[in-house]
Amino acid sequence: MSTTQTNQIEILKSPTTKINEVDFENLSFGSVFTDHLFECDFKNGEWQKPIIKPYAPFLLDPSSRVFHYGQAIFEGMKAYKDTQETVWLFRPDENYKRFNKSAVRMAMPEVPEEIFMNGLNQLLQLDEAWIKKGSGNAMYIRPFMIATGKGVIANPSNEYKFMIILSPVTSYYAGEVKVLIAEHFSRAANGGIGAAKAAGNYAAQFYPTNLANEAGFQQVIWTDDATHTKLEEAGTMNVFFVINNVLLTAPVSERILDGVTRKTLIDLATSENINVEVRPVLVSDLVEAAKNGTLQEIFGAGTAAVVSQISGFSYQDIYYELPKIDNSVAAHLKNKLTNIQNKLEEDKFGWTVKV
Ligand code: PMP
Repeated sequence: MSTTQTNQIEILKSPTTKINEVDFENLSFGSVFTDHLFECDFKNGEWQKPIIKPYAPFLLDPSSRVFHYGQAIFEGMKAYKDTQETVWLFRPDENYKRFNKSAVRMAMPEVPEEIFMNGLNQLLQLDEAWIKKGSGNAMYIRPFMIATGKGVIANPSNEYKFMIILSPVTSYYAGEVKVLIAEHFSRAANGGIGAAKAAGNYAAQFYPTNLANEAGFQQVIWTDDATHTKLEEAGTMNVFFVINNVLLTAPVSERILDGVTRKTLIDLATSENINVEVRPVLVSDLVEAAKNGTLQEIFGAGTAAVVSQISGFSYQDIYYELPKIDNSVAAHLKNKLTNIQNKLEEDKFGWTVKV
């Protein structure tokens, strides 16, 4: 799909700021947004001139394709401020590549790197005061694209809107997380869109997750759709297991999102001489390990929570409680990773990129 020129971003500054109304100590994840947003429209086969402008609601035609056929994708990434007030992104190229993979799968135009990266950098620079220093504090970045073309006709739109919005966040502790292993519902199937960050994937998870919540579980561990025997993701995170001192996680596939945190933890753990195995992990492996006492940890990994420890799981109506351990692999890796992200520890991998 043809792309355009645009190295110049028009910047329309907000005459006022909302920053003084924000309680940065008590942020609820993803609910506060900064003063500006980045926007670039796609029409007539081309990306138009990008703009940064005040954050505000906008109008769409009721027949816009996004409302009817769900052409919508997004990314989730973070920026951090170090003790010297320098702002850093973490592996932004990975999010950029994944965004365009999602775009291709959803028959949407790819966003040129220059538009994505310049837009992101300039937006972060403009709203820099909203990024707070200190471990756990970050700017959650939400790039997204929707189909804005008009007409209730089930074919791809010819017009799109790409936007980036920013939400300051603080570290969050999910509390105790008990999970239910999916025995009927699926979040993804072979040939489907599970490996894309398509909005509909998340909508499809809400109903089974609500049922799990009603049964007393905070999250669902998704299994493969064909046999429900392989453990694939935990809620909206990749999932790791520690069994017999080996860190295990499933290989990415058409059904599993290629998580940036997942690949980072695999590299970190390997560099720390932790035994890592990337292979299909079976429900039966987990149940057996829980029964014979070799199951040490289960945790989810993703940008939002970084690492989220799971306290127990239910399968076929039997609840298996995990042992409470000090010095968990999860806590160790989380600490390492957040130290690298916050520039408190040397980044020998070259993952952090200056804004
Ligand atoms: N799986 C799913 C389904 C997700 O939505 C996410 C969050 N993006 C992840 C895994 C974790 O990916 P990442 O580490 O890149 O945030």
